[in-house]
Amino acid sequence: MSVSLDKVRLERLIKELKSKKGRGTELISLYIPAGRPIGDVTSALREELSTAANIKDRTTRHHVLDALTVTLQRLKMFTSTPKNGLVIFAGYIPRGPPGSEKMEVYVIEPPEPINTYLYRCDSRFHTEILEEMLEEKGSYGIIVIDRSSATFALLTGKRLKILDEITSGVPGKHSAGGQSARRFERVIEIMAHEFYKRAGEYAKKLFSEVRDLKGVILAGPGPTKNDFYNGDYLPYDLKKMVIGILDVGYTGEEGVYEVIDKTQDLLEGIRYIHERRIVQRFLEYLAKRSDLVAYGYREVYQLLKQGVVDTLIVSEEVPLSYVKAYCGNCGWSMEDLVRDEDLEQFEEACSKCPVCGQPTTIDRGDVIEHLMEVAKSFNTKVEVISTATEEGKGFLDSFRGMAALLRYAPQQ
Ligand SMILES: [Zn+2]
Repeated sequence: MSVSLDKVRLERLIKELKSKKGRGTELISLYIPAGRPIGDVTSALREELSTAANIKDRTTRHHVLDALTVTLQRLKMFTSTPKNGLVIFAGYIPRGPPGSEKMEVYVIEPPEPINTYLYRCDSRFHTEILEEMLEEKGSYGIIVIDRSSATFALLTGKRLKILDEITSGVPGKHSAGGQSARRFERVIEIMAHEFYKRAGEYAKKLFSEVRDLKGVILAGPGPTKNDFYNGDYLPYDLKKMVIGILDVGYTGEEGVYEVIDKTQDLLEGIRYIHERRIVQRFLEYLAKRSDLVAYGYREVYQLLKQGVVDTLIVSEEVPLSYVKAYCGNCGWSMEDLVRDEDLEQFEEACSKCPVCGQPTTIDRGDVIEHLMEVAKSFNTKVEVISTATEEGKGFLDSFRGMAALLRYAPQQ
């Protein structure tokens, strides 16, 4: 089966795919656009099968034919093309000396629609189209505001557009004392309130038309940006998109440029903030409701397969492999998670079928891929944690990169 990949996982998978090289021109990359009937693709691949039968080099020919066959088998599992299309990579990857090649297959439902059909047989996997999906898309609204003016801008990728600027007409602080000063202060407050309301309406008008708006950044030199935020001047759907409130030295366009300088870190930070929260939540549960957490890959894996896990937390560097051994003779099979350091020993132990004694075939798969597949069947959330934060590193070191928040306390 395939899994739908979010961008963090896609990034990781692409890195892995790019590291793989075929022995010859024998690795298959297939991109199927959304809406393309599976039957069309199947017949195209059958044609490739007959072409491949003419490849002169015997090993290459066998490898290409096998890769095509495996791809066709995987396609059979789909009655229709998934909504974003489908990507398949297949081929023999050398593990060591000639003859050590193992068939590897990756079936991916991409996070964004695929628009072009592509079939390639090469000594590498063609990941470029998937890589394009990682490029930062979407727009960010920027509001730089203080008591005198508000500037609205839109950042799309690296392109910045100043949308509009309004001024308040609110006079500066009055220096005189006494009654008239207090009355003056009150007038200023009312004017400021009216100005924030107007700024909120502008934000609504300017940003609600942006279809791919991913977030709003509020900035300004003084406390106005916070008053503006806390005072509910922004419509609720925009307010909940505010991803940061920044201090900048300037107003107007200059202030916007300052925001851009500071935003790069902010945008990267969002992903890490989320990851930190997940790890912190796990640690909190561990301290207060330890019956609702699990760690240790064996226990977590067991509970996951029982449907007890609410959220599976796994480090992108979890030192585990998913291994499946099966016997082509009698049909015996087994699958398990194996610690990377035990992998060779495990494969040695499983090299002969325990039922009929024939040699087995052993497939190694991506452990996160496998966990996500299992998780999917129980509606379990999966959080993949990078090692870019202290929390992420600590999680990998202390819990070997795998833990779970549970739906209920399992029976002892
Ligand atoms: Zn057997």
